Amino acid sequence: MSASARENLQKSLGAIAAWEPHIGAFLDITKDEAERQVAALESDIALHQQPLAGMPIAIKANIATQFGRTSASSKILKDFVSPFNATVVQRLLGAGAVVVGKTQHDEFAMGSSTEHAGLGPQTKNPWDISRVAGGSSGGSAAAVASTEVEAALGTDTGGSIRQPASLCGVVGVKPTYGRVSRHGLIAYGSSLDQAGPITRTVRDAAKIMEVISGKDPLDATSSEVPVGQYAALCGKPIAGMIIGMPKEFFADGIDPEVKKIVTDAIMSFEEQGAVVKEISLPLTPAAIAVYYVIAKAEASSNLARFDGLRYGIREDIHASLIDYYKQVRGEGFGPEVKRAIMMGTYALSSGYSEAWYGQASKVRTLIRREYEQAFRGVDVIAGPVSPEPAFKLGSKTSDPLAMYLADAYTVPASVAGLPAISVPCGMAIKGPPNRRVSLPVGLHIIAPHFQEETMFQIAAAFESAHEFQNLSPELPQ
Ligand code: GLN
Repeated sequence: MSASARENLQKSLGAIAAWEPHIGAFLDITKDEAERQVAALESDIALHQQPLAGMPIAIKANIATQFGRTSASSKILKDFVSPFNATVVQRLLGAGAVVVGKTQHDEFAMGSSTEHAGLGPQTKNPWDISRVAGGSSGGSAAAVASTEVEAALGTDTGGSIRQPASLCGVVGVKPTYGRVSRHGLIAYGSSLDQAGPITRTVRDAAKIMEVISGKDPLDATSSEVPVGQYAALCGKPIAGMIIGMPKEFFADGIDPEVKKIVTDAIMSFEEQGAVVKEISLPLTPAAIAVYYVIAKAEASSNLARFDGLRYGIREDIHASLIDYYKQVRGEGFGPEVKRAIMMGTYALSSGYSEAWYGQASKVRTLIRREYEQAFRGVDVIAGPVSPEPAFKLGSKTSDPLAMYLADAYTVPASVAGLPAISVPCGMAIKGPPNRRVSLPVGLHIIAPHFQEETMFQIAAAFESAHEFQNLSPELPQ
């Protein structure tokens, strides 16, 4: 594989040149660094033999790299270059991957469409450039779907890997909380954040997960649980396995076409000898409220460090400390981030924190228990990732609640800390009769804590029976 590292890079840079003007997936292309990595691969036999040797990969801009900016797509960090690599990046480089650039996302990973990016460009969906790529890891998903890169890393706090993967027709994995080190991730909600792969095939995602998973002394919340042989499980039969289908995942608010595509996809597991069983997760509707209270509360605390003194743009302003903060933070953060800071500060403020953060934490425990209970009777839980396919750019930006509801099906697994994958399962037909477009729909598979093996096994079984991974968008004219 490594013999073609240079060819892979050329191919990737060629696709970037062709696609970038249409989809704006990248904040920075790190061509020189990528060439240096290819040269290292050519001269280092040991690196040659590593599992990801020569794989062109993109990294979300909220993950620290010593090359390219780690801006979190925010004005407050607009020129920041990290002095160190995140553990996940270090592990990818050690496995021979070639990093070609940093991808666009919603500022500080807050959003579901990449329209809340604080720095340009506007990312668009490669299947229809009048629509969103999803978010917050929209750039990573668009870059993979368009074949600009073979794989990308995203981060997922409440759906930010799975939802853009679903909307762009690629595979996206949110690992179990603690499976992958968070060292070097710019924190959003520390009790929820995980980095994970976005790829075109389940096997590639499994291979990347084998590389990035595992204990890291630099992240105390990373787990000692041994890392499984995820790729080896891809291709193993699933006869006899039980797939739970929660009726609450198909309730009001889901697009009828998405409902049919996802239901048919789940029922098709029976052709492989698996058993589909309807289950109930009554707390599903509570997950959005729980998630938004917890994520925003943690965000308000995590973002306090960006004050223009310790972290963030340093301005030459002669004012009192309070006025300095006001100016730096007022100009440095975009509206969605300010909304998070205000909501989160309120949820943690004295006299209210028990009613908001405390209560949300209690319901979080109940949601977690509800899943643990459900997993006593099923191997995995399956449903939709997103209630609808890619929506039109601008259609939800003025309605924060509508945007939050895009995460209705992804946040339960986040709140419960469970591993989950989005795998392409069909195409929905949208648009007026004279301008029909085919838009990808993702199947969501949620597994018990640290059972990524089961998740990969079932996802790979679906993929090999349907081959949606072979569909790809056409370069716009
Ligand atoms: N859209 C959700 C939010 O804004 C999820 C984002 C994410 O997973 N990073 O919080």
